[in-house]
Parts: sequence; C-alpha cells; structure tokens
Amino acid sequence: VNSRLLVVAGCALVDDPIQGRLEPDTALLVDDGIIAEIGPAARLIERYPELPREGGHDLLALPGLVNAHHHGRGVTWLQQGHPDEPLEEWLLGFRLAHTVEPELDARYAAERLLRSGVTTVIISHYQPASPELADAVHAMVSGLLGTGLRVVFAVGFLDRSAWKDPEFRAGLPPSLESSVAERVGPAGRSPWPEAAFDLFDDLRRHVDADPHIRLLPAFGPVAPHWCSDDLLRAVAERSKQTDAPLHMHALETRHQQHLALARTGQPELERVADLGVLTPRTSIAHALWLEPDDVAAVLGCGTTLVHNPSSNMRLGSGHLELTSLLDDGVRVALGTDCAGLRDDDDLLQEVGLAAIARRSPDTRWLKPTEALTLATTAGARAAGLGGQTGALLRGYRADVVLIDAAALAAPAALNWANALDLVLGRATTRHVRTVLVDGEVVVRDGQTTRTDSQQTAALLAEAHRHVHPMPVDAALIEEIKPSLRSHIAQVEAAAKRKRAFA
Ligand SMILES: [Zn+2]
Repeated sequence: VNSRLLVVAGCALVDDPIQGRLEPDTALLVDDGIIAEIGPAARLIERYPELPREGGHDLLALPGLVNAHHHGRGVTWLQQGHPDEPLEEWLLGFRLAHTVEPELDARYAAERLLRSGVTTVIISHYQPASPELADAVHAMVSGLLGTGLRVVFAVGFLDRSAWKDPEFRAGLPPSLESSVAERVGPAGRSPWPEAAFDLFDDLRRHVDADPHIRLLPAFGPVAPHWCSDDLLRAVAERSKQTDAPLHMHALETRHQQHLALARTGQPELERVADLGVLTPRTSIAHALWLEPDDVAAVLGCGTTLVHNPSSNMRLGSGHLELTSLLDDGVRVALGTDCAGLRDDDDLLQEVGLAAIARRSPDTRWLKPTEALTLATTAGARAAGLGGQTGALLRGYRADVVLIDAAALAAPAALNWANALDLVLGRATTRHVRTVLVDGEVVVRDGQTTRTDSQQTAALLAEAHRHVHPMPVDAALIEEIKPSLRSHIAQVEAAAKRKRAFA
C-alpha cells in the first residue's frame, strides 16, 4: 500500500456535500490515509510528479458512501426462497432461515457494498445468544474486514422475541403451541444476553490491539419492543461509558407502534428517550410510524434516523415523510437493509429512490445534494465518524468513490453541471470505477482488489448446492400466520383503547 498518492478526477464534489460545490479537474493528495491537500489537478501533478495516480478525467469524485443500516448478509433472503411479505409474517420465516458459510457470505456482502461505492457500513447484528454466537460473529467480521471495508459492528441485544411473546403464544391453538414450543422454547423472556456484552468487549480489544483495523464496535439493541427496559438501560449506560455508537430498529411497522401504545401507553421513541437510549450517538433504522412526540424526542436528543426506502416499500411497511422530517431539522441517514428495489443492495440506487419515493404535488422534493448528504455526512455521523469521513475535505480520511460520469451521460456529451442529477437518476454499481478506504484502493475498474469476487461467488454457489433452499418449517409457519394476524388485530384494538383514554 502506497502511503502517498494522488487521486485525480474530472470533477469532484468537495467540501460538505450539502454545499454541492463541484470543482473541475481536481486532485486529492492522500498521505497516510488522510486527505492532505485538495487542489487543481495540474498543479498537484506538477508538484508531485513521482506519486502514483488513481482516477481519470471522465470520473466524478464523491465522498465514500455510508450505508447506515445493513445486516451483513450476502446471499439475499429472496435468493434463498424467502419472498417479501409484511414484516411480521416475513420475520416468522426469517427466524428459521440460516446463513450458509457466514465468513464467505459476509465477504460477498462486503464486496458488493464496496463495488457500489460504500466505504463504511453499519451492521445491525441480531443473532440470539447461543454458544456459537462469538464464533459466528468473528467469522462475519473477518469476512467483512477482509475486503477493506470499514465496519461499524452493532452487537445485537435482545431478551424478548415475537416468537416468545406470551400474548401471541396464548392465542395459538394448543397443537400449534406445542410445535412452536418444541422449535423455539417456552413463551417468556429470553436469558439476559451477557454474551453480547462480552462480545462487544472482545471486539474492542481487537481494535485496541491494532488501531489500523477498520472496525468500530457499537451497541445494537435490536428493537425496543424486543428488549426489556432493564436491558435498554444497561446498553445505553455501556454506550455512554464507552462512547460507542448505538444502533437499533424502531417503529418499522404500524403493529410496532400499536405494540408500544398497548404495552406502555407511551410513544415508543419518547419512552426510550426516557430510558437514556436516544443520544447524538444513536441511530434508529426505519422509524416510519412516528407520533409527534417521537419526532420531538429524536430532535431533542440529536438522534439520527436511518431511512430504508427499498426495504420499506418491499415489505409494505410504510413511508417516511423525508423532506418534512428534514425541514423539521431531524438528521436522516440512509441504508439498504440488505434490500434494494431489485434486490441488489445498491446504495447508489437507494439514494435515487430516496429522492423520488415521496414526490407528489403536495411534497417538497429532495434536492440532489440533500439526497447525497443522507449517504455521506449524515451516515458518517450515525457511524460515529462525523468529521472524519463523508466529505472530501482536508484532514478527512481518504474515503473516495470515483464514478464514470461520462458513461452516465453517454451517448450524450457529459456536462459536469448535471453530474449530480445524473448520479441521482442513473448511477448504479456498474458506474463505480474506483473506491478508496483510508487511501487504500479497494476497488479498481469496478473490481475488488483484496479479494476475488468471482471466486467468492463460486465458493458460495458450491456451499449453497448442499443446503435446503427453503426454511425447514415453512409448513408450520403457514399454519401460524392466521393466529399471528389475529394477534396483530388484538394489539391494534388494545392500542386504540389506550389512545381513547389518553
Ligand atoms: Zn434491518
């Protein structure tokens, strides 16, 4: 790895992306992983003729993208025979699905992320505590880091689950209840996840031993309705002590909003703010079913919401009123949630989708610079890396993506003034030429440099030849669905009664 190099671009989005400042014929001097200087390409080439050069004059330089919500899955659920369904039903099948070759699968995911211009990812991990947990996590982290990607790994915490919810289980016919008990155990609380706290400490030790490792451990209480208040308080306290980011799901579906009201009578995010969970270090994925008091809590705590438009659309979860939240001053980042409209986990396309998802005669439209900010500076802040990545600025880490802007316009001639509109409207993974993380070229000519993505895919194909493509208990899941739907209706009725009293 060269410690010094020049990155040359026909045009670069310099400064904070929200400014939209496009500088033609720009070069970045990278020194020891940091952007040491930004200036006219001709001047920097003249001054540093001996330095290796990356880039080209047809390329647009953007800050490396931050995918602020992902689960580290490579082969998608759809590819494994688990189709899109409303979240609560989808989660039933998801509980019984499995990851084949976790390290290889994570490497495949990371290669795809890098090739789509992502330089930092927030991984939300959610595996329940088990003796194999630490090994599975280390395999996954190793698969991700092996590609050169920067990883914020949110260790999952939960001590409640939809499967073990006593009210849901009480509504199951006795024969189904015994089948479920056999499969997932009795109804009630799961054990306190001590192992997850140990896992966080363990990942921290790895980072302390080698500060060059591109890993930032974080806390990931999976969702407030799957954690007891005691657990949420404990995790929030540890996050405060360690200054580590905290990342969780919340209010992804209307059912989750109803659950919060039915159980506690209080809007979910207002409640978790009272428990100390919401801080500027916190980011919340989805957050679609917000009450006004939830928005006030998020704003008051400086917490970031992470928008996942393709996942929300595919599972019919709901819509985020993005521009109105931004206009209120809420910080919003962007993640693919391992989805993508075409199941391709492509954050560049997700940026474009976020821009158009809520266009209507009555909404303010998102500007290209705002859309890019979701996936850059806002994402960096959610990752705990604000001021370090997410912008092409002197002193920032050299996390850069070079996009073939000429190809975006071809066969029309490229006009740099339209470059950001082209990125928003047309860019996909196949337009990404070069990606640098900490000044290291991790993608060149669209291919990962540290690992061979064709080999990864071939090894995965071999591994998948030997597994059953469907969750083993698919028939049981179908039998459970009517009971689940009536449970959801009961929770809704209970929430409405609570609201009527409020
Ligand atoms: Zn998710």
